[in-house]
Amino acid sequence: MAALIFIYLEHVRPVVDGVWHRARLTSVPAPGEHITMLCGLKAAAAFAPHEQRGARCIPTQCLPCDAAYREQLGWSVPKRPAKSKRRRKR
Ligand SMILES: [Zn+2]
Repeated sequence: MAALIFIYLEHVRPVVDGVWHRARLTSVPAPGEHITMLCGLKAAAAFAPHEQRGARCIPTQCLPCDAAYREQLGWSVPKRPAKSKRRRKR
């Protein structure tokens, strides 16, 4: 008998070196199976309880993955803020 744990694939955000990415998953990857993120990064799948997510650091978002995800949905892609040409007065 198996105890099924259902995973909503739309909510899966693979974290690699403290950066969370997005991947177009069609099934739950097997541990060790390589998955490709929307930004092109490839990494082996591993699983951990949610409580361990912030144990080492707070993950930050992969901007190329976010831009690719938004483009897929037809949303506008925020552009990086232009660097200010004004200099601080001393
Ligand atoms: Zn990414």
